[in-house]
Amino acid sequence: MKDDKSTIPNIGDFFYSSPDLLSVFGKDGELIQVNPAWHEMLGWDFDQLRGVPFTDFVHPDDVQATADEFRLVIEGPEETRRGFVNRQRCRDGTYRTISWSTLRKDGWICSTGQDVTDRLEIQTKLNQSTAVTEAMFEAAADSIVIIDRDLIIIESSPESEQIYGYPERGRRGRTGLNIIDERDRPFVEAALRKTFEIDEVTTVSFRAQHADGHEITLETRGRALRNLDGSPARAVFITRDVTAAAQTQEALAENLAKLRAIIDTAVDAIVVIDREGTILEVSPASEAMYGIPESLRRGHSALEFVHYNDQAVVLAAIRRIFDEGRATTARFRVRHDDGHWVTVESRGQALDNGGEPPIAAVVITRDISESVALEHALEIARSEAERHDHAKSEFMSRMSHELRTPLNSVIGFSQLLQMESNDPDVLRMLGHINNSGQHLLNLINEILDISRIESGRVIVTLRAVTLDDLIRDCVGIITLQASQRGLDVEVGDITDALVRADQQRLRQVLLNLLSNAIKYNRPQGRVTVSTEIVEDTVRISVRDTGLGISPEMFERLFIPFDRLNVESTGIEGTGLGLALSKNLTEAMGGTLSFDSTPGKGSVFTIQLPIFKAQ
Ligand code: ADP
Repeated sequence: MKDDKSTIPNIGDFFYSSPDLLSVFGKDGELIQVNPAWHEMLGWDFDQLRGVPFTDFVHPDDVQATADEFRLVIEGPEETRRGFVNRQRCRDGTYRTISWSTLRKDGWICSTGQDVTDRLEIQTKLNQSTAVTEAMFEAAADSIVIIDRDLIIIESSPESEQIYGYPERGRRGRTGLNIIDERDRPFVEAALRKTFEIDEVTTVSFRAQHADGHEITLETRGRALRNLDGSPARAVFITRDVTAAAQTQEALAENLAKLRAIIDTAVDAIVVIDREGTILEVSPASEAMYGIPESLRRGHSALEFVHYNDQAVVLAAIRRIFDEGRATTARFRVRHDDGHWVTVESRGQALDNGGEPPIAAVVITRDISESVALEHALEIARSEAERHDHAKSEFMSRMSHELRTPLNSVIGFSQLLQMESNDPDVLRMLGHINNSGQHLLNLINEILDISRIESGRVIVTLRAVTLDDLIRDCVGIITLQASQRGLDVEVGDITDALVRADQQRLRQVLLNLLSNAIKYNRPQGRVTVSTEIVEDTVRISVRDTGLGISPEMFERLFIPFDRLNVESTGIEGTGLGLALSKNLTEAMGGTLSFDSTPGKGSVFTIQLPIFKAQ
């Protein structure tokens, strides 16, 4: 190569020692010489380059641009200088990025190439990292502030405006300290200054004032940014508004304090247990229940205090609480320290463990010994009362039965005597005997029925009953009684539908209602019987135009022997008919209701299901 030195114009050792790529072309663009840097940088020697199209050594994507640049210099006037960048292929197949400067001088074309591969790479990385930093700065949900050693704000991210309420530009060039609450300012300032001295992240929470005046709680984390010589010139602080979290924290603390207060003052014993039933926490109230100081129970198994026979119940409850996550109630006995057994009722609920299986449960236990004793006493009293009731019904039913037999003889013989006597005085007296006998018999029959119903011994046989026949039959029976009082009995629309009832008992109820409608009617009044289908039931109504019943009497209407003060009117009765009718209707699966307007009349309604063939 040195041989050619003489052929190259105006170049000396510089050409051979330059670290940059140097190449000389003739005026037609033929390569005249390259310096050794070509070998060192790219691995090529002049001999390998000479006579070969330059496209072989340039990245395919850069060939066109390189050719264009070169042509501009060749074809341009003297002193034409062009600069451009392309990728040159190395001998090992890799590429280096070269920044070329090409000059046309004295008919020669000289190119100087500098390897900028590394610089470009660094530049690209720097650009990227700057872009990332800027994007983070812009997009950060927290406030990012860069301050200098005097704590003056140099840069502040857009979100800072949201947090502090001041326009970000407005804060630049000022100290950020003045918005910090005076109470917290000294330690925040100390923390900020310290950040410049240490190589660690500083974290500090403080109160500040938002531009609109309200107090905010902030948490800031910062770190010094060092110069190349290691001196800290700036520090970056990322600040977050933790007001809501601080409030939640405060509320939580308050709640916990309240909870503690509840546990401490609760009348019920509150115990926290783990899966094994070990006692983790105990409320003071449990001391009274167990007679053992709370501290002595902590760490013990809850089962230690449970009656042997109730342990299975407690174990099952614990299992249900923890395995099935269900709030569970159990009743069992626990031993008081003085040896007596306390009956308690516990309700336990597992504590939420964020989706994981629960590890603890709160159990609230109440001493129910007294109420259990009371329940027991009540139970005894109830069965005693039932026994009494039963005995009473039994007595009534026997008594009525025993009374009926002699009474039937009295009535029978008085009727026989009536047939044989012509003496009007004797006949009048016999009439009294007969009437009183009948009245007594009715009374006894009704008492018997009532006592049968009360003791649950009334038997109803439910069959399909045709209402038309039954109603006309009953009306026929009471017609005489009605006409004696100058009353009209009307039969309205009677449905063809069959009802499900006991024919005999329904007749008894109807006759009773009709008889009342006559007895408590006004002279020349009217009694109307009608039926109506309502859904799958039939309503049979007996309506009268009588005195009616005043509302304050309504609740006494079905009470046995209560005649609602009509005793003085001379209207005969026992006060048992309605009570019996209601019970009988209900025994047939129906209802008996009424409506009444004093002075206008009453309507009594039997409602029975329509008979459905099975
Ligand atoms: P009683 O044998 O007295 O008629 P009930 O049990 O049949 O007994 O009726 C109880 C009371 O209800 C009657 O004494 C009467 O005061 C009142 N009562 C019953 N039906 C009527 C009615 N249709 N109109 C007005 N009052 C009635």
